[in-house]
Amino acid sequence: MSFNFYKDFISKAKSFGNKIGELENTVQDEKFKFKEVFERNIILEKEISERTEELNQANKSLLTLQHIWSTMNSEEPLTGVLSTVIRGLVDGAGYIYSSVLQIYENNEKSELRIRALTENAYAIKVQEILGKIVLTYSINLENENNIFVQALKSRSIKSTKSYRQVYHGSDPKLTDEQIECLDALLAGRLITILPLIANDKPFGCLFVISIRNEISDTEKNFLNLFAGQTELAITIAGLFEKIRNQANTDGLTGLYNRRYFDQCLVSEADRSMRLRQPFTLIALDLDHLKQINDTHGHSTGDVAICHIGSVLKQNARSIDIPSRSGGEEFAIILPGIDIEGGMIAAERLRIAIEAGSIEGPGKVTASIGVATFLKHTESVGELLELVDQAMYKAKRNGRNQVQLATKEENIDWRQLAMETFAEIITKQRIPLAPAIANDLIKKFKTPPTSEDALTDFLYYITDSLSKTYQPLNKKGHTREKVEIATEIAEKLNLIQSEIDKLKMAVLLYDIGNLMMPENILLKPGKLTEKEKTKIQEHPIIAAREILKPILSANHIISVIEHHHENWDGTGYPSNLAGKDIPVASRIILIIDAYFALISDRPYRKSMTHKEAIKILKEGANTKWDSEILNLFIAAIEQKQKKPV
Ligand code: GH3
Ligand code: MG
Repeated sequence: MSFNFYKDFISKAKSFGNKIGELENTVQDEKFKFKEVFERNIILEKEISERTEELNQANKSLLTLQHIWSTMNSEEPLTGVLSTVIRGLVDGAGYIYSSVLQIYENNEKSELRIRALTENAYAIKVQEILGKIVLTYSINLENENNIFVQALKSRSIKSTKSYRQVYHGSDPKLTDEQIECLDALLAGRLITILPLIANDKPFGCLFVISIRNEISDTEKNFLNLFAGQTELAITIAGLFEKIRNQANTDGLTGLYNRRYFDQCLVSEADRSMRLRQPFTLIALDLDHLKQINDTHGHSTGDVAICHIGSVLKQNARSIDIPSRSGGEEFAIILPGIDIEGGMIAAERLRIAIEAGSIEGPGKVTASIGVATFLKHTESVGELLELVDQAMYKAKRNGRNQVQLATKEENIDWRQLAMETFAEIITKQRIPLAPAIANDLIKKFKTPPTSEDALTDFLYYITDSLSKTYQPLNKKGHTREKVEIATEIAEKLNLIQSEIDKLKMAVLLYDIGNLMMPENILLKPGKLTEKEKTKIQEHPIIAAREILKPILSANHIISVIEHHHENWDGTGYPSNLAGKDIPVASRIILIIDAYFALISDRPYRKSMTHKEAIKILKEGANTKWDSEILNLFIAAIEQKQKKPV
């Protein structure tokens, strides 16, 4: 019994031991499994965190507000967006290479071509194998064996480990040897292609090479998300580009507009100064457009303008900026072109304009001026003045011709003022009472020769003219105005040519009043808003209607146009403010105000010197430049002390 019990005990213990062993094995197995799962989890977590980091990095470079803004505002928003995308993937997310291909439609053929690509060592090696710039390769969208076409057709992500599928059916074709070399360079890594859809239309593909040779679902998600953001950015960039083009072009001719022209002129001048490479500016004005409008109607006038527009477009190189700078005025910037090339281009335009035929007037012609930056001047403002002067010279010499700018010679300001008055009075550009006109015309026949007598003569003419629109203004004050202006200019250390310009502008700044209706000029009561607006046209009329066609007055036009601009920007006609207002205009504004205050006006009696100064002081820093005001007050008080 005891033996049996012992045997039984032993066998139970054995089986128990076996069970324990089994259990131990199972535990061990489970432990291994658990360890495996645990380790896999760690790997997965690591991968998730890596991908999240990549996405964050890519997002960061794509989406910083400032970056988006500068990209969208750049010359070509789309190119900017695409290079940002590529940078995001290569620099941000660690991809080896990336490019964006765009669909181009031409001659009813659709093809894919690279629009933006990584410019790194990998790209250089690809280029060496291809022996050509990769941008010249295209993929026909009919070719269904090509991986790009497959991705676009199926609208899904595609991957491959061989360049064969990538360049399948490319133009030009790749040799087997080239494919082998490319695949060797790829070294088993994975190429992934994602279709890009913008505005519900296929835009192209995103091409990436990752460091890995497999693609996980997490990576697929990441790339899909990234492609989604890229599509959004492409759509927005397209809108920006459209708006920019609309804002930069003129509706009638499709040429660039004034705003864009001004922008380009400044940047071209910067570039030209940096590289010391000249550029030429051509100014062109249609001849006798008024006559065409009057005889054949305004719409025929528009056809003439469009004809010029298409001639300019047809003759422009891709880097030229042909623009409509005003109603019937055009300007073309020719980067890198010197005087000689500019003259040839201008003559070619003149001939092409004349050769065209327009229903109604038959042919139209244009007068053209040419000036070259760095050769004629290094200032943009002066370049514009010079090219305008050249254009007006072409008008005066009989129209339908090209004239080259000439640098202003040092002609005495009195001489220029004499020529200007002679043009105004003898050619009757302004309506003058016959008695005054005859008196002045007679005096012009025998002008004085000595400098002093000439100065007196100019003051006499200016005073006589101002009396016609300010009859109460018995004393003309021209001499005092010129003397004070000169004193202020000298204290400001202006250069002699600026001082001479100022002296001449003092004689002519109010000449626009000669074109104002008498009932407004002589109205005893307060002016109505409408009358005020009319009076405010006088600087523009003086500058643009009376003086613009007169060569000798060209350099003072902007001074006169802006002599009613206030320091704080509340003046007219252009609301210029501060130092944007020409310095001579700022000086004239104060001098004009003072002498107006101390003179009788139809609507008020004259003020005393003290009252006038008080009013001037009240406008310091709002109406007037306070530095100039102080110089004016010092000069006028000094004058008061001197015996006359
Ligand atoms: P020229 O330049 O040869 O001295 O003579 P012009 O007749 O062209 O003289 P001016 O430059 O003084 O006149 C320009 C005219 O152009 C006046 C204006 O009515 C007309 N004009 C300006 N813009 C347009 C436009 O967009 N369409 C049409 N049809 N006419 C315009
Ligand atoms: Mg004209």
